[in-house]
Amino acid sequence: MPSLLGHRSPLRWLLLSALLITAPLSAANEPELERVTLQLAWYHQFQFAGYYAAKQRGYFREAGFEVEIRHGGHDVYGRPIDPVEDVVFGRADFGVSRSDLLLYHSQGLPVVVLANIMQRSPLVFLTLEEHGFTRLEEVGERPISVTLPDVDARLSAETLASFHRAGLDLERLNNRAPSWALDDLLDGTTQLMPGYLTDAPYFLEAFGAEPVTITPESYGIDFYGDLLFTRAALIEERPERVEAFQDAALRGWAYALDNIEEVAELITQHYPTRNALYDIHFLRHEAEKLRGLMQPELIEIGYINPIRWESIAEVYVELGMIEHYDLEGFLYRPPAPASTDFKRLVRWALGGGILLLLVIGLASYLLMINRQLRHEVARRQTAEDSLRELAEKDGLTGVDNRRLFEERLQQCVAHARRHHQPLTLILFDVDHFKQVNDCHGHLAGDQVLVEIAQITRPLLRTDDHFARYGGEEFAVLLPGTDHAEALQVAKRIWQVNRDHRVTSNTGPICYSLSLGVASLDERDQDPHDLVRRADERLYQAKHQGRDRYFGAAGYATST
Ligand code: GH3
Ligand code: MG
Ligand code: MG
Repeated sequence: MPSLLGHRSPLRWLLLSALLITAPLSAANEPELERVTLQLAWYHQFQFAGYYAAKQRGYFREAGFEVEIRHGGHDVYGRPIDPVEDVVFGRADFGVSRSDLLLYHSQGLPVVVLANIMQRSPLVFLTLEEHGFTRLEEVGERPISVTLPDVDARLSAETLASFHRAGLDLERLNNRAPSWALDDLLDGTTQLMPGYLTDAPYFLEAFGAEPVTITPESYGIDFYGDLLFTRAALIEERPERVEAFQDAALRGWAYALDNIEEVAELITQHYPTRNALYDIHFLRHEAEKLRGLMQPELIEIGYINPIRWESIAEVYVELGMIEHYDLEGFLYRPPAPASTDFKRLVRWALGGGILLLLVIGLASYLLMINRQLRHEVARRQTAEDSLRELAEKDGLTGVDNRRLFEERLQQCVAHARRHHQPLTLILFDVDHFKQVNDCHGHLAGDQVLVEIAQITRPLLRTDDHFARYGGEEFAVLLPGTDHAEALQVAKRIWQVNRDHRVTSNTGPICYSLSLGVASLDERDQDPHDLVRRADERLYQAKHQGRDRYFGAAGYATST
């Protein structure tokens, strides 16, 4: 159905004429509701609860809209439904999409984000316990089916970025286009597939399988999940209508999260779900998972954080998926409140001699607003801080996470090149860490990692960047440090850790490290050339018997 929002739409005229003809028959005094369409990204389920609630509770009506909520997935002819296309070409007015919307915007499509509903992405990679692996690095030759550009026209930057960060060679993967059918995983056709955290593990468990989820987040990829969007023209033509729609939708979301049971019932009764498995028990489960992704206690529902979008955009740039982006045009900003009525009111008040009253009223109003604003700023600051902490620090050891390391790597390489300064990287890995876990337990293993971080940090300068690079692998970036100095640092790290004992229930734990040291070379094409060399030397150290550090050929060092 074409959009009825546009005032030039012929259908709108048709509707108006029909209303004029039938007007005497209609007893209703209700203002005319504007018919708009919301195109969902998938079949009806709790993932879209806020919109059903906004409709059911009358929030859309209060805002002057009669909203048709259309399911996504596939149409009656089995063709995939694309909300972006539908909204851009006016077949719908609002749509639900994900972070990849930025790609379309960078390609010139006039789409605008109105609200970030899921603050965290629900996308995960699924495998089963029986396949015996828990990280992308272990995929090897296994049959997998994930959304990568060579197999699927639909791009998933989260997938591509995770695979890149895991250091996998995409050419070598045994990958087929994903069917998104869990059966393929259950019968072994594929050993890794994408899925939503909110539903796939639930269904796999229901089928008696033991799902293992691998998150893009563990590779430092932290995208937004579902978002509400529209096309730019609607905002330009009718900013206050778009604002009213967004506001009603967010009220709906607040209601849905506070009334999970009621809204789950509403879905089962009024919105035909995909199949019988999507029953009330599932919807309840999905609602709880969704709440975790939305974090309503921490972040205002729908909040758009430009800083996070900036870092998402940078991942796209890093992957070569886009060359430039314009967040100004991509992220919605509510229109500034109109001031003309207010001015007229002031003039009238002056004439009427009630200025004093107005001033007193205004002053207390401003005071109140000021207090609320200060409160709001403090609240957002806390939320921002927690988010930044979540986004940049490793949860176990407190050192930088992989995502921040990648960012620092790019910055340090650029800085070193510009100022012709040396830059060195030390990568180190705990030797036989599996044995530590096996002999002393996983918790003791965790404690070892925590203490490695604690005793290594003081050996570094404040300018050095210390990050957890992977499971039991750490990275230290040393700006302005040449190879010989870095080897001295590596030696200290090696020595201090091998002398350290971690206390555990099963007795003191001793461990050793293998370290690889590499320096930035003028011939390096890419910052990751530096990582690759450090990694090769770490491997050499392992190969030569572990418990040693290893630098460039001229500086080859062992214990
Ligand atoms: P080596 O590196 O010397 O070749 O042997 P390794 O035993 O350390 O090798 P490998 O890389 O195969 O095993 C690493 C193990 O580290 C496997 C994984 O279970 C464990 N590990 C990874 N991350 C964590 C973690 O956060 N906590 C604990 N306790 N163990 C972890
Ligand atoms: Mg190891
Ligand atoms: Mg390792």
